[in-house]
Amino acid sequence: MVTDSKWHAETLAIVAGRAPTPGGPFNVPPTFASTYRDGGDIGYGRWGNPTWSAFEEALGELEGGYCVSFASGLAAVSALLASLPLATTVVYPGDGYNGTRGLLERLDKEGRLHTRAVDVVNTNEVLEAMDGADLLWLESPTNPMLGVADLPTILRSARDAGVVAVVDNTFATPMLQQPLALGASAVVHSATKYIGGHSDLLMGAVIVADESRRDELVEWRTTLGAIPGVMEAYLALRGLRTLPVRFARQQRTAAELAERLDDHRHVRRVRYPGLVTDPGFERASSLMGGFGAMLSFEVHDAPSADRIVESLRLIVGGTSLGGVETTIDRRGRWKGEESVPGGLLRLSVGLEHPVDLWADLDDALNGVFANP
Ligand SMILES: *Cc1c(COP(=O)(O)O)cnc(C)c1O
Repeated sequence: MVTDSKWHAETLAIVAGRAPTPGGPFNVPPTFASTYRDGGDIGYGRWGNPTWSAFEEALGELEGGYCVSFASGLAAVSALLASLPLATTVVYPGDGYNGTRGLLERLDKEGRLHTRAVDVVNTNEVLEAMDGADLLWLESPTNPMLGVADLPTILRSARDAGVVAVVDNTFATPMLQQPLALGASAVVHSATKYIGGHSDLLMGAVIVADESRRDELVEWRTTLGAIPGVMEAYLALRGLRTLPVRFARQQRTAAELAERLDDHRHVRRVRYPGLVTDPGFERASSLMGGFGAMLSFEVHDAPSADRIVESLRLIVGGTSLGGVETTIDRRGRWKGEESVPGGLLRLSVGLEHPVDLWADLDDALNGVFANP
Protein backbone atom coordinates (compact mmCIF):
# COMPACT_ATOMS: atom_id res chain seq x y z
CA MET A 1 0.00 0.00 0.00
CA VAL A 2 1.45 3.32 -1.00
CA THR A 3 0.18 6.07 1.25
CA ASP A 4 0.30 9.79 0.73
CA SER A 5 2.89 11.50 2.94
CA LYS A 6 0.49 14.39 3.54
CA TRP A 7 -2.17 12.18 5.07
CA HIS A 8 -2.98 12.58 8.73
CA ALA A 9 -2.88 9.80 11.31
CA GLU A 10 -6.68 9.50 11.17
CA THR A 11 -6.46 8.70 7.46
CA LEU A 12 -3.39 6.45 7.68
CA ALA A 13 -5.04 4.39 10.43
CA ILE A 14 -7.87 3.63 8.01
CA VAL A 15 -6.03 3.03 4.74
CA ALA A 16 -2.75 1.35 5.75
CA GLY A 17 -2.40 -2.42 5.92
CA ARG A 18 -5.03 -3.21 3.29
CA ALA A 19 -4.91 -5.83 0.54
CA PRO A 20 -5.65 -3.89 -2.65
CA THR A 21 -6.65 -7.01 -4.62
CA PRO A 22 -9.63 -6.34 -6.95
CA GLY A 23 -12.53 -8.48 -5.80
CA GLY A 24 -10.79 -9.28 -2.52
CA PRO A 25 -11.90 -8.45 1.01
CA PHE A 26 -11.30 -4.94 2.42
CA ASN A 27 -9.40 -6.38 5.35
CA VAL A 28 -6.45 -8.76 5.27
CA PRO A 29 -8.03 -11.88 6.77
CA PRO A 30 -6.41 -13.86 9.59
CA THR A 31 -4.14 -16.44 7.96
CA PHE A 32 -4.03 -19.51 10.18
CA ALA A 33 -0.98 -21.35 8.92
CA SER A 34 2.05 -23.04 10.43
CA THR A 35 3.36 -24.11 7.04
CA TYR A 36 3.14 -22.75 3.51
CA ARG A 37 3.52 -24.66 0.27
CA ASP A 38 6.92 -24.42 -1.38
CA GLY A 39 7.32 -21.71 -3.97
CA GLY A 40 6.06 -18.75 -1.93
CA ASP A 41 7.89 -16.16 0.13
CA ILE A 42 7.02 -17.17 3.71
CA GLY A 43 7.63 -20.90 4.15
CA TYR A 44 7.13 -21.49 7.86
CA GLY A 45 4.76 -19.87 10.35
CA ARG A 46 7.50 -18.51 12.60
CA TRP A 47 9.11 -16.66 9.69
CA GLY A 48 6.18 -14.49 8.71
CA ASN A 49 2.44 -14.12 8.32
CA PRO A 50 0.34 -11.87 6.04
CA THR A 51 -1.84 -10.80 9.00
CA TRP A 52 1.22 -9.65 10.99
CA SER A 53 2.44 -7.79 7.90
CA ALA A 54 -0.84 -5.88 7.57
CA PHE A 55 -0.65 -4.79 11.21
CA GLU A 56 3.04 -3.89 10.85
CA GLU A 57 2.40 -1.78 7.77
CA ALA A 58 -0.29 0.21 9.57
CA LEU A 59 1.65 0.83 12.80
CA GLY A 60 4.80 1.55 10.78
CA GLU A 61 2.88 4.25 8.88
CA LEU A 62 1.67 5.84 12.12
CA GLU A 63 5.13 5.90 13.71
CA GLY A 64 6.95 6.79 10.48
CA GLY A 65 9.17 3.70 10.22
CA TYR A 66 9.38 -0.06 9.70
CA CYS A 67 7.50 -2.17 12.23
CA VAL A 68 8.12 -5.68 13.54
CA SER A 69 5.41 -7.23 15.72
CA PHE A 70 5.97 -9.49 18.72
CA ALA A 71 4.03 -11.71 21.10
CA SER A 72 3.82 -8.97 23.76
CA GLY A 73 5.35 -5.64 24.67
CA LEU A 74 7.94 -7.38 26.81
CA ALA A 75 8.80 -9.76 23.96
CA ALA A 76 9.51 -6.65 21.87
CA VAL A 77 11.66 -5.21 24.68
CA SER A 78 13.49 -8.55 25.03
CA ALA A 79 14.23 -8.78 21.32
CA LEU A 80 15.81 -5.32 21.40
CA LEU A 81 17.90 -6.21 24.46
CA ALA A 82 18.87 -9.62 23.05
CA SER A 83 20.46 -7.93 20.06
CA LEU A 84 22.85 -5.94 22.30
CA PRO A 85 26.48 -6.98 22.75
CA LEU A 86 27.43 -8.39 26.15
CA ALA A 87 28.35 -5.86 28.89
CA THR A 88 26.50 -2.99 27.23
CA THR A 89 25.76 -0.05 29.53
CA VAL A 90 22.07 0.88 29.53
CA VAL A 91 20.62 4.11 30.93
CA TYR A 92 16.96 3.62 31.87
CA PRO A 93 14.11 5.40 33.64
CA GLY A 94 14.10 4.63 37.37
CA ASP A 95 10.33 5.12 37.41
CA GLY A 96 9.57 3.49 34.07
CA TYR A 97 7.41 0.46 33.34
CA ASN A 98 8.18 -2.14 36.01
CA GLY A 99 8.45 -5.06 33.56
CA THR A 100 11.24 -3.38 31.57
CA ARG A 101 12.96 -2.26 34.78
CA GLY A 102 12.74 -5.76 36.23
CA LEU A 103 14.23 -7.29 33.10
CA LEU A 104 17.09 -4.78 32.92
CA GLU A 105 17.87 -5.15 36.62
CA ARG A 106 17.89 -8.91 36.33
CA LEU A 107 20.23 -8.87 33.32
CA ASP A 108 22.48 -6.55 35.30
CA LYS A 109 22.48 -8.88 38.32
CA GLU A 110 23.44 -11.78 36.08
CA GLY A 111 26.32 -9.80 34.63
CA ARG A 112 24.90 -9.58 31.11
CA LEU A 113 24.78 -5.79 31.02
CA HIS A 114 25.28 -2.71 33.22
CA THR A 115 22.41 -0.41 34.11
CA ARG A 116 22.14 3.18 35.28
CA ALA A 117 18.77 4.40 36.53
CA VAL A 118 17.86 8.05 35.90
CA ASP A 119 14.94 10.41 36.33
CA VAL A 120 14.07 11.12 32.68
CA VAL A 121 12.33 14.37 33.67
CA ASN A 122 15.74 15.69 34.74
CA THR A 123 17.46 16.33 31.39
CA ASN A 124 20.90 17.07 32.89
CA GLU A 125 20.86 13.85 34.87
CA VAL A 126 20.07 11.89 31.68
CA LEU A 127 22.77 13.64 29.65
CA GLU A 128 25.39 13.00 32.34
CA ALA A 129 24.43 9.32 32.66
CA MET A 130 24.80 8.95 28.88
CA ASP A 131 28.54 9.49 29.15
CA GLY A 132 30.14 6.16 28.24
CA ALA A 133 26.74 4.44 27.84
CA ASP A 134 25.71 2.42 24.77
CA LEU A 135 21.94 2.41 25.04
CA LEU A 136 19.43 4.92 26.36
CA TRP A 137 15.97 3.61 27.23
CA LEU A 138 13.26 6.27 27.53
CA GLU A 139 9.61 6.57 28.46
CA SER A 140 7.58 9.76 28.43
CA PRO A 141 5.16 10.41 30.01
CA THR A 142 6.36 8.10 32.77
CA ASN A 143 4.30 5.42 34.45
CA PRO A 144 2.61 6.11 36.87
CA MET A 145 4.01 9.54 37.81
CA LEU A 146 3.24 11.10 34.40
CA GLY A 147 6.55 12.99 34.27
CA VAL A 148 7.38 14.49 30.87
CA ALA A 149 10.89 14.19 29.39
CA ASP A 150 12.43 16.69 27.00
CA LEU A 151 12.66 14.09 24.24
CA PRO A 152 13.94 16.37 21.43
CA THR A 153 16.89 17.60 23.52
CA ILE A 154 17.74 14.16 24.93
CA LEU A 155 17.44 12.39 21.57
CA ARG A 156 19.57 15.01 19.83
CA SER A 157 22.31 14.59 22.45
CA ALA A 158 22.10 10.81 22.23
CA ARG A 159 22.55 10.97 18.49
CA ASP A 160 25.54 13.33 18.82
CA ALA A 161 27.09 11.02 21.44
CA GLY A 162 26.51 7.88 19.35
CA VAL A 163 24.19 6.39 21.96
CA VAL A 164 21.39 4.20 20.64
CA ALA A 165 18.10 5.60 21.99
CA VAL A 166 14.90 3.60 22.37
CA VAL A 167 11.58 5.20 23.31
CA ASP A 168 8.73 3.17 24.78
CA ASN A 169 5.81 5.08 23.24
CA THR A 170 3.01 3.00 24.80
CA PHE A 171 1.56 5.82 26.92
CA ALA A 172 1.80 8.62 24.37
CA THR A 173 1.04 6.58 21.22
CA PRO A 174 1.99 8.03 17.80
CA MET A 175 -0.97 10.39 18.26
CA LEU A 176 1.10 12.51 20.67
CA GLN A 177 4.69 12.01 19.53
CA GLN A 178 6.74 10.20 16.90
CA PRO A 179 10.14 9.59 18.50
CA LEU A 180 11.78 8.34 15.26
CA ALA A 181 11.32 11.79 13.74
CA LEU A 182 13.11 13.23 16.80
CA GLY A 183 16.13 10.98 16.28
CA ALA A 184 15.26 7.84 18.29
CA SER A 185 16.82 4.62 16.95
CA ALA A 186 13.75 2.57 17.82
CA VAL A 187 10.25 2.89 19.23
CA VAL A 188 8.68 0.16 21.34
CA HIS A 189 4.99 -0.46 21.96
CA SER A 190 2.94 -2.64 24.15
CA ALA A 191 0.16 -2.96 21.54
CA THR A 192 -1.76 -4.63 24.35
CA LYS A 193 -2.65 -1.12 25.50
CA TYR A 194 -3.96 1.74 23.32
CA ILE A 195 -3.24 0.18 19.94
CA GLY A 196 -5.27 -2.97 20.56
CA GLY A 197 -7.45 -0.82 22.76
CA HIS A 198 -10.06 -3.37 23.86
CA SER A 199 -8.36 -5.34 26.68
CA ASP A 200 -8.66 -8.56 24.70
CA LEU A 201 -5.13 -9.29 23.48
CA LEU A 202 -1.41 -9.05 24.20
CA MET A 203 0.96 -7.90 21.50
CA GLY A 204 4.09 -5.79 21.10
CA ALA A 205 6.00 -4.00 18.38
CA VAL A 206 9.29 -2.34 17.57
CA ILE A 207 9.48 0.37 14.92
CA VAL A 208 12.82 1.39 13.42
CA ALA A 209 13.87 3.96 10.84
CA ASP A 210 15.63 1.71 8.35
CA GLU A 211 14.90 -1.54 6.57
CA SER A 212 18.17 -3.28 7.43
CA ARG A 213 17.49 -2.81 11.14
CA ARG A 214 13.98 -4.15 10.56
CA ASP A 215 15.41 -7.26 8.89
CA GLU A 216 17.72 -7.84 11.86
CA LEU A 217 14.78 -7.63 14.25
CA VAL A 218 12.76 -10.06 12.13
CA GLU A 219 15.72 -12.44 12.38
CA TRP A 220 15.75 -12.03 16.17
CA ARG A 221 12.01 -12.67 16.31
CA THR A 222 12.43 -15.83 14.24
CA THR A 223 15.32 -16.98 16.43
CA LEU A 224 13.70 -16.15 19.77
CA GLY A 225 10.28 -17.39 18.69
CA ALA A 226 8.37 -14.54 20.33
CA ILE A 227 5.87 -14.30 17.48
CA PRO A 228 2.39 -12.80 17.79
CA GLY A 229 -0.71 -14.91 17.40
CA VAL A 230 -2.62 -14.50 14.14
CA MET A 231 -5.92 -13.63 15.78
CA GLU A 232 -4.10 -11.14 18.00
CA ALA A 233 -2.58 -9.42 14.98
CA TYR A 234 -5.95 -9.30 13.27
CA LEU A 235 -7.64 -7.80 16.33
CA ALA A 236 -4.78 -5.38 17.00
CA LEU A 237 -5.11 -3.97 13.48
CA ARG A 238 -8.87 -3.75 13.90
CA GLY A 239 -8.18 -1.83 17.12
CA LEU A 240 -5.60 0.43 15.49
CA ARG A 241 -8.15 1.61 12.89
CA THR A 242 -9.98 3.50 15.65
CA LEU A 243 -6.94 4.54 17.69
CA PRO A 244 -7.08 8.21 16.59
CA VAL A 245 -10.76 8.64 17.40
CA ARG A 246 -10.59 6.65 20.65
CA PHE A 247 -7.52 8.48 21.83
CA ALA A 248 -8.95 11.93 21.06
CA ARG A 249 -12.08 11.21 23.06
CA GLN A 250 -10.23 9.50 25.90
CA GLN A 251 -7.86 12.39 26.39
CA ARG A 252 -10.69 14.93 26.34
CA THR A 253 -12.40 13.02 29.14
CA ALA A 254 -9.09 12.60 31.00
CA ALA A 255 -8.55 16.38 30.95
CA GLU A 256 -12.04 16.95 32.34
CA LEU A 257 -11.61 14.37 35.11
CA ALA A 258 -8.16 15.73 35.98
CA GLU A 259 -9.61 19.23 36.49
CA ARG A 260 -12.44 17.93 38.64
CA LEU A 261 -10.19 15.67 40.72
CA ASP A 262 -7.79 18.57 41.22
CA ASP A 263 -10.65 20.57 42.81
CA HIS A 264 -11.87 17.70 44.99
CA ARG A 265 -11.38 18.20 48.72
CA HIS A 266 -10.34 14.58 49.33
CA VAL A 267 -7.72 14.49 46.56
CA ARG A 268 -4.22 15.55 47.60
CA ARG A 269 -2.60 15.80 44.24
CA VAL A 270 -3.34 15.07 40.59
CA ARG A 271 -0.60 14.17 38.13
CA TYR A 272 -1.67 14.98 34.59
CA PRO A 273 0.51 16.98 32.18
CA GLY A 274 -2.58 18.78 30.85
CA LEU A 275 -3.19 20.60 34.15
CA VAL A 276 -1.74 24.11 34.03
CA THR A 277 -0.34 23.57 37.54
CA ASP A 278 1.40 20.26 36.63
CA PRO A 279 5.21 20.40 36.50
CA GLY A 280 5.10 18.78 33.03
CA PHE A 281 2.55 21.20 31.56
CA GLU A 282 4.86 23.55 29.67
CA ARG A 283 7.01 20.78 28.26
CA ALA A 284 4.01 18.70 27.24
CA SER A 285 2.31 21.73 25.64
CA SER A 286 5.28 22.45 23.43
CA LEU A 287 6.47 18.89 22.72
CA MET A 288 3.38 16.69 22.55
CA GLY A 289 0.30 16.72 20.34
CA GLY A 290 -1.92 16.39 23.42
CA PHE A 291 -1.76 15.33 27.05
CA GLY A 292 -2.84 11.72 26.84
CA ALA A 293 -5.53 9.73 28.62
CA MET A 294 -3.57 8.49 31.65
CA LEU A 295 -3.69 10.35 34.95
CA SER A 296 -2.78 9.61 38.54
CA PHE A 297 -4.23 11.07 41.72
CA GLU A 298 -3.26 10.72 45.34
CA VAL A 299 -5.47 10.32 48.35
CA HIS A 300 -4.57 10.19 52.05
CA ASP A 301 -3.13 6.67 52.26
CA ALA A 302 -3.07 3.19 50.74
CA PRO A 303 -6.03 1.76 52.73
CA SER A 304 -8.32 4.61 51.68
CA ALA A 305 -7.13 4.27 48.08
CA ASP A 306 -8.00 0.55 48.21
CA ARG A 307 -11.43 1.38 49.61
CA ILE A 308 -12.04 3.84 46.77
CA VAL A 309 -11.26 1.13 44.22
CA GLU A 310 -13.66 -1.25 46.02
CA SER A 311 -16.49 1.27 46.15
CA LEU A 312 -16.40 2.34 42.49
CA ARG A 313 -19.35 0.91 40.58
CA LEU A 314 -18.55 1.84 36.97
CA ILE A 315 -14.76 2.18 36.90
CA VAL A 316 -13.09 -1.23 37.00
CA GLY A 317 -10.25 -2.08 39.35
CA GLY A 318 -7.49 -3.85 37.44
CA THR A 319 -4.01 -3.38 36.11
CA SER A 320 -3.13 -2.66 32.48
CA LEU A 321 -4.44 0.35 30.58
CA GLY A 322 -5.50 1.77 27.25
CA GLY A 323 -8.81 -0.07 26.84
CA VAL A 324 -12.23 1.35 26.00
CA GLU A 325 -13.23 0.87 29.64
CA THR A 326 -11.94 3.13 32.40
CA THR A 327 -9.71 1.19 34.79
CA ILE A 328 -8.06 2.09 38.08
CA ASP A 329 -4.96 0.64 39.71
CA ARG A 330 -3.24 1.41 43.01
CA ARG A 331 0.27 1.11 41.66
CA GLY A 332 2.01 0.89 45.02
CA ARG A 333 0.58 -2.62 45.54
CA TRP A 334 2.88 -4.09 42.88
CA LYS A 335 6.38 -5.45 43.27
CA GLY A 336 8.94 -2.95 42.02
CA GLU A 337 6.63 0.02 42.70
CA GLU A 338 7.76 0.63 46.30
CA SER A 339 8.74 4.22 45.52
CA VAL A 340 5.23 5.12 44.30
CA PRO A 341 3.15 6.96 46.95
CA GLY A 342 0.88 4.42 48.71
CA GLY A 343 -2.28 6.45 48.10
CA LEU A 344 -1.63 6.94 44.37
CA LEU A 345 -4.33 5.68 42.03
CA ARG A 346 -3.62 5.47 38.31
CA LEU A 347 -6.58 5.99 36.05
CA SER A 348 -6.71 4.81 32.44
CA VAL A 349 -9.57 6.85 31.03
CA GLY A 350 -11.88 5.02 28.64
CA LEU A 351 -14.84 5.90 26.47
CA GLU A 352 -17.72 6.07 28.96
CA HIS A 353 -19.57 9.35 29.33
CA PRO A 354 -17.50 11.78 31.45
CA VAL A 355 -20.52 12.68 33.59
CA ASP A 356 -21.00 9.04 34.61
CA LEU A 357 -17.28 8.63 35.30
CA TRP A 358 -17.17 11.74 37.44
CA ALA A 359 -20.27 10.71 39.41
CA ASP A 360 -18.62 7.35 40.13
CA LEU A 361 -15.34 8.94 41.32
CA ASP A 362 -17.07 11.65 43.34
CA ASP A 363 -19.38 9.15 45.09
CA ALA A 364 -16.48 6.83 45.92
CA LEU A 365 -14.28 9.64 47.26
CA ASN A 366 -17.06 11.15 49.37
CA GLY A 367 -18.22 7.75 50.60
CA VAL A 368 -14.78 6.60 51.73
CA PHE A 369 -13.84 9.83 53.48
CA ALA A 370 -17.27 10.35 55.06
CA ASN A 371 -16.90 7.01 56.89
CA PRO A 372 -13.22 6.68 57.68
C1 LIG B 1 2.35 -2.94 29.49
C2 LIG B 1 3.58 -2.23 29.13
C3 LIG B 1 4.69 -2.92 28.58
C4 LIG B 1 4.72 -4.42 28.44
O1 LIG B 1 3.80 -4.87 27.49
P1 LIG B 1 3.09 -6.31 27.53
O2 LIG B 1 2.26 -6.28 26.31
O3 LIG B 1 2.32 -6.38 28.81
O4 LIG B 1 4.17 -7.34 27.51
C5 LIG B 1 5.79 -2.17 28.21
N1 LIG B 1 5.82 -0.83 28.38
C6 LIG B 1 4.79 -0.13 28.90
C7 LIG B 1 4.89 1.33 29.06
C8 LIG B 1 3.63 -0.82 29.29
O5 LIG B 1 2.62 -0.13 29.82
